[in-house]
Amino acid sequence: MTEYKLIVDGKPLATTDTFGVVNPATGEVFAQCQAASSEHLDQAVAAARKAFPGWSQQPDEVRVGKLKEIAALLQEHSEELAQLLTREQGKPLQGFAGLGAHFEVGGAIAWTEATAALHMPVDVIEDSDQLRIEVHRKPLGVVGSITPWNYPLMIAVWHVLPALRSGNTVVLKPSEMTPLATARFVELCNQVLPAGVLNIVASNAGSLGAAMSKHSGIDKIVFTGSTPTGKRIMSAASATLKRLTLELGGNDAAIVLADADPKKIAPAIFATAFINSGQTCAALKRLYVHEGIYEELCAELAAIANSVKVGNGLEPGIDFGPVQNEAQLNIVAELADDARQAGARFLSGGVRPQGPGYFYPITLVADISDGTRLVDEEPFGPILPIIKFTDVEDALRRANASENGLGGSVWSADVEKATQLASRLECGSAWINNHAILHPMAPFGGVKQSGFGVEFGQFGLDEYCSLQTLHISK
Ligand code: ADP
Repeated sequence: MTEYKLIVDGKPLATTDTFGVVNPATGEVFAQCQAASSEHLDQAVAAARKAFPGWSQQPDEVRVGKLKEIAALLQEHSEELAQLLTREQGKPLQGFAGLGAHFEVGGAIAWTEATAALHMPVDVIEDSDQLRIEVHRKPLGVVGSITPWNYPLMIAVWHVLPALRSGNTVVLKPSEMTPLATARFVELCNQVLPAGVLNIVASNAGSLGAAMSKHSGIDKIVFTGSTPTGKRIMSAASATLKRLTLELGGNDAAIVLADADPKKIAPAIFATAFINSGQTCAALKRLYVHEGIYEELCAELAAIANSVKVGNGLEPGIDFGPVQNEAQLNIVAELADDARQAGARFLSGGVRPQGPGYFYPITLVADISDGTRLVDEEPFGPILPIIKFTDVEDALRRANASENGLGGSVWSADVEKATQLASRLECGSAWINNHAILHPMAPFGGVKQSGFGVEFGQFGLDEYCSLQTLHISK
């Protein structure tokens, strides 16, 4: 069985401890990953601290060059990385609308290249005969990155590359459920980076993330994951006043106005609700549809749902893979059962198939409303509630009546009207006639309990810097 290495200070950990990684399509362990202890975490932090002065003082062009080399390495190894993602995460190699493992690797490459193209500007506030005031961006030090199991590679890239680009060094901890593509990514990066600049630790013991959050040698935590874990990290990080970027859960609402064309919008709504089998923080998770087109849109979506193929993502022609782990599968099944008991109408799916693996069918649930668990809680799986509304102001109120505020969308033939309504959604990203489409230069982040701080582009880069103001009296 292949054993994947954890790289600390430029070399694999000196340990024989490993843990098994499960393929969710079979429910069986298919590879081993080296397991890090809290002493290994200390070693990783010490290595990152040691590497920081050299790395942060490199000319910016040197770091840009390294990012370009990393992008080329990812490209060269894209097939291998996609295969690993499918095995450990479950997403099909190609998948519905091409949004599978190859899409994730492609995103990782695109984001690496985009991060290389950013700038580290010096802002000039005043430049007179007597005074010049400059604002410089300086790296924070050691960044701890904690990543989830839904997009292990792409989210690692989102965290690590801007941290490195701005001169920080990094200790990365992937989810214990999906450490392999990330471990391989770190191994590749270490072919071109100086030792200690990027280190990785992982363990299935479950305490490494907590240890990172309170570690006195880590200056910032960037975290993507659930809201309860984000709160624990924020609490632990307070002891050392760590900087934080928290990209947490979402329960994104979409509002479909009466003038939208159900036939035209159904494919895009379906793709964005079920991207990565719904295991996407900014996927469309509550669909509010005007009563005038409700049945027609339900029928269009059901026709797509009943035509897609769920199965092992390594096989050709599979649209959707399994849920990544059994605990998440149980949440999805529980929310479906609760909806059934509340009298909802299932347009597709809703029954867990027999056999191995954590499979659940693509499930559309109509005649359901706010106040049921499926609408109020983030299911993070292949199930979508479709809610009827009469009055658009009421739909907006219900869309905003959530603790979360990651994304939202409005669908309409009248783009101007939809844009006005979308700007009243309480969320970090609002889309018109689309949802969950990200751009490497456009800031992405949540409001309310979806977290704080943004990723991507210049705004995102600033999150890895502190500002130093130079007041130069002439
Ligand atoms: P899920 O419950 O869906 O796995 P989490 O938000 O708990 O999502 O996990 C995301 C990441 O956070 C994983 O890398 C996990 O190991 C890590 N993690 C879990 N608990 C903690 C914690 N208390 N402090 C820091 N990180 C944690």
